Amino acid sequence: MRSISVFGATGSIGESTFDLLMRQGGAEAYRTRVLTGGRNVVRLAEQARALGAELAVTAHEDCMADLRAALAGSGIEAAAGKQALAEAADRPADWVMSGIVGAAALVPGFRALAHGATLALANKESLVTAGPLLMATAQSHGARILPVDSEHSAIFQSLLSEDMAAVERIIITASGGAFRDWPMERLARATVAEASTHPNWAMGQRITIDSASMFNKALELIETHEFFGVSPDRIEVLVHPESLVHALVGFRDGGMIGHLGAPDMRHAIGYALNWPDRAHLPVARLDLAAVGSLTFRAPDPVRYPALRLAREVMETGGHAGAVFNAAKEIALDAFITGRIGFLDMAACVEETLAYMSGEMVLGSAPESLDMILETDRAARIAAVGIVDKRRKV
Ligand code: NAD
Ligand code: MG
Repeated sequence: MRSISVFGATGSIGESTFDLLMRQGGAEAYRTRVLTGGRNVVRLAEQARALGAELAVTAHEDCMADLRAALAGSGIEAAAGKQALAEAADRPADWVMSGIVGAAALVPGFRALAHGATLALANKESLVTAGPLLMATAQSHGARILPVDSEHSAIFQSLLSEDMAAVERIIITASGGAFRDWPMERLARATVAEASTHPNWAMGQRITIDSASMFNKALELIETHEFFGVSPDRIEVLVHPESLVHALVGFRDGGMIGHLGAPDMRHAIGYALNWPDRAHLPVARLDLAAVGSLTFRAPDPVRYPALRLAREVMETGGHAGAVFNAAKEIALDAFITGRIGFLDMAACVEETLAYMSGEMVLGSAPESLDMILETDRAARIAAVGIVDKRRKV
């Protein structure tokens, strides 16, 4: 029986993963080692009981008593805190979903790879922050990373049995997010509620706001560069409001192979879960005649400074991705809590990158995860200071 663990089981990606696991036989088909979540311990315990998990971990130590109570009589172990999350990744599993949001997914992901697990990587921050090291860790332990971000799953599928040397360019699509048709003047006053609705995808709040600012696509540009090893000048972003074409690969003979599907993460998750097989998945089938037309346009560089910053980060390499991601997480927190405006996020990230490049050689290659975590910590401190200076009065 295949053993599995799901990190971030109670989130949007985690719930979709849980749904597929249950549909594909649940506790009868999988040996569930670990499920993790945050404050929603009642839901975490429900999932753990349904899948007969061995261990449930909440990220918050103050939630431990509630988790224990919710698991009473089940025989499922409970644990809490950062250290417990890291140790949970040491429990060997054949397949591990990395579905925690943010850089908090880094340590569990690295540890799962070090045990040779197949890592289904939804968490894009891992590749942005520590791409070369993550890929090297997988390689040196004979472990595999399968991309779960929809664009990257689409690229992966478009490249099946293709020679990377024949790849001329990769195009990832972007819906344009909640504000794609808003006038620029209005963007500065965009509220958290307005930024938290996505035209096509139902996702966690953070990635939804990142879609409106295009920081999500900025992270995905870097993710594409790190995972597929394609140089930045060969990776393009195309705004595609219908979100039905997820990515395209262009080859040197002029042909392009693209991937289409309904905007439902259960496709990419299910693909990674069943790879190299294709299982029957419960996603809507496209009726292209009913859709009628697909539209595309180039992204507006003024509206979306995050894309320019991502290109600068890829050119710099080294620690730049860790700084970029950390600053973005802090700026996003500040926007969500009403301390800065929507457009201030990109300005804060840019300023943090500039500040950190004066503090260290951003382009030097980090030799260890600890070095990256140290950069992440320093960049967060710098970003908090920069956010405070911009704070709305
Ligand atoms: P979410 O906010 O819905 O869920 C996040 C999960 O991580 C929850 O289980 C939460 O409890 C847990 N978590 C949050 N902070 C944590 C911390 N500090 N330590 C430990 N656990 C923590 O997020 P999501 O939308 O499911 O996204 C998860 C990841 O997948 C993100 O990296 C996101 O960019 C990526 N992703 C998501 C989608 C999507 O459709 N939701 C698509 C592509 C990629
Ligand atoms: Mg995506």
